[in-house]
Amino acid sequence: MITGESFLKEKLTHIMDGETPSREELAAILALPSPEYLYHTADLIRQEQCHDAVLLRGIIEISNVCNQSCHYCGLRKENKTLFRYRMTEEEIMDAAQKIQRADISTAVLQSGEDKTDAKRLCDLIRRIRTESDLFITLSLGERPAGDYLAFREAGADRYLLKHETASKQLFEILRPGSSYNSRREALRLFKELELETGTGCMVGLPGQTPEDLADDLLYMKALGADMIGIGPFIPHPETPLAHCPPGTTEMTLKMISLTRLLLPRANIPATTSLGVLDSTGRRKALQSGANVVMLDFTPENYRRHYDIYPGKTYVAREQDHTLRLLRQELEAMGRTIGRDRPRGEILKTSAKTASK
Ligand code: SF4
Repeated sequence: MITGESFLKEKLTHIMDGETPSREELAAILALPSPEYLYHTADLIRQEQCHDAVLLRGIIEISNVCNQSCHYCGLRKENKTLFRYRMTEEEIMDAAQKIQRADISTAVLQSGEDKTDAKRLCDLIRRIRTESDLFITLSLGERPAGDYLAFREAGADRYLLKHETASKQLFEILRPGSSYNSRREALRLFKELELETGTGCMVGLPGQTPEDLADDLLYMKALGADMIGIGPFIPHPETPLAHCPPGTTEMTLKMISLTRLLLPRANIPATTSLGVLDSTGRRKALQSGANVVMLDFTPENYRRHYDIYPGKTYVAREQDHTLRLLRQELEAMGRTIGRDRPRGEILKTSAKTASK
């Protein structure tokens, strides 16, 4: 008789041998209750590929202005209860210097889809590159194609644009005014421009099925994503999805683990949203395949207004102690804080992965 455990072992062996599972097989794995063997196997692969080093990223939420209306996000333009801000260049530089002083090698500049002038952003990227040793990741939503090239030429290393959901139907319901195809085109373009490419999805969206999540995994695998952020959906009270149930820790962990198996070398964060949903979420993610932790360096007076989902701003207020507590937590888990590989080396790996 084929049990859930023997089915899982057989499928994971095939994935580790380089086979890409079918949509139905992935959906069947996602439907298994508490698959400890999956988490454990993903943790072993993480250790083999990333050793015990956890990479840190410093986030600066440079603006919470957004022109989009995503049904799941507190930054949507219809949320009139939110105070909107744009950080000045000096404030951003100050935060970048704090990231560097904390011995973190990457700054992530994040915003809503605020149509900030590309030249202003290029000047900022050049200034960070000149005045620090930081790698620069951009997470600024969709922009005109020419902007991505300009950002690359100014010195950006990576672009993070979550595809959010591989289900075209869900995407079109949840992101009115946004194009499913143009988002995918942007991600393809990042690869072409040799920007390290980050994407990711939400888990537990209303109407989402295990097959939809299987499609997310297969899409990220086909893209050859270098960074993958997977977090649970958390309903925000000022959105149309206010009364929908959140995603679960278990399904998010299954997705993280399968991502590690399908893309063994990807950088996978233990997302903040998982930590909000479950106070032990970060630890669980780091033990199920994740190898990155994001820390918020947005100044206190802005942080609480970057209100994508409830609870995030509370986590952010704890930031002053976060680094010290994180070091202690990682030490207790037998993990260390790692350094990014030199520029160029990661891109070589990324190009190889994409050509497979
Ligand atoms: S998900 Fe992004 S694009 Fe959509 S409303 Fe939120 S910040 Fe804007």
